[in-house]
Amino acid sequence: RHAKRNGTVFELYSGPAESESPRYLTLISELHTAIVENQFVLHYQPRVDIGTGRISGVEALVRWRYPEQGLMPPAEFIAIAEQTGLIDPLTHLVLEAAVQQCRAWSDQGFDMPVAVNISVNSFHDPDFLTRIDTLLATWKLNPALLQLEITETTLMKEPAVVRNLINRLKERGIVVAIDDFGTGYSSLSYVASLPIHTLKIDRSFVIRMLESPRTRSVVAATIFLAHSLGIKTVAEGVDVGEQVEALHEMGCTEIQGYYFSRPVEAEQLRRWAETFSLEHYALTLPAERAN
Ligand code: C2E
Ligand code: MG
Ligand code: MG
Ligand code: MG
Repeated sequence: RHAKRNGTVFELYSGPAESESPRYLTLISELHTAIVENQFVLHYQPRVDIGTGRISGVEALVRWRYPEQGLMPPAEFIAIAEQTGLIDPLTHLVLEAAVQQCRAWSDQGFDMPVAVNISVNSFHDPDFLTRIDTLLATWKLNPALLQLEITETTLMKEPAVVRNLINRLKERGIVVAIDDFGTGYSSLSYVASLPIHTLKIDRSFVIRMLESPRTRSVVAATIFLAHSLGIKTVAEGVDVGEQVEALHEMGCTEIQGYYFSRPVEAEQLRRWAETFSLEHYALTLPAERAN
């Protein structure tokens, strides 16, 4: 199978059936080299708080500068990294780059919380917390500027391990968000029992919300419950103004998606942030909200 991305062609690995294929084995070896040589780059996507009109943070999203073919999206190599144990060193590279970038921005007077995606495997990495502590100390970064995102499906796999790790992170002042919320089957009451800061409502709900009154009710109820439990909500994959307005009406004020910006390089993100003003957008956002 081939997929066209960014004008280049990548051969896709598409599941366990191919796991013995020469292409899969080549990718593993290339990924190994990529980690040794750090062939990765982070793109950053902003989250906008439409209540305050401010940028509340950015999410770091990894891309692989695949030799001579441009940038390979994470969907095409994260799973392989997870299956082969390469995810731990990859996560470390991503964390290091994100912390460095956050420090650099901070030095420029641009204080911007950076969220990093953490795979379930890292919860079993005995060095994970030590590495984070070392990174924060080395770069003298305020832990409140580092946020970690873990997917809802991760939560379900290892409840005890996850609870312990989230607690240890919270002690350090590091904020944890549950990513892709709604795609797993965890109950809100279970999620509420964890010391998490934010729920990120999955893009699939945001997409269906406008056409489906049922989906809209699910989203509204999730936002209401999360807020009454003291958990913040972010909607992800928001790409049209009507979605922004509907989410605002339901009380979800943090918006991430192409509507405001695609993930872009660090320098471009900063330039975008400098000129950003919510007033430039044709949005109807009444002051009175649901919650
Ligand atoms: P995610 O954490 O849910 O990140 C959001 C994904 O949705 C990003 O895709 C982003 O580009 C895309 N997106 C954001 N807004 C919109 C929109 O309005 N429309 C559409 N169609 N898409 C939108 P990306 O960068 O390809 O990342 C895909 C996934 O790969 C991420 O999903 C995350 O689970 C994973 N990932 C990315 N970077 C890392 C990493 O450093 N470590 C790990 N473990 N996973 C990562
Ligand atoms: Mg994420
Ligand atoms: Mg997400
Ligand atoms: Mg997602």
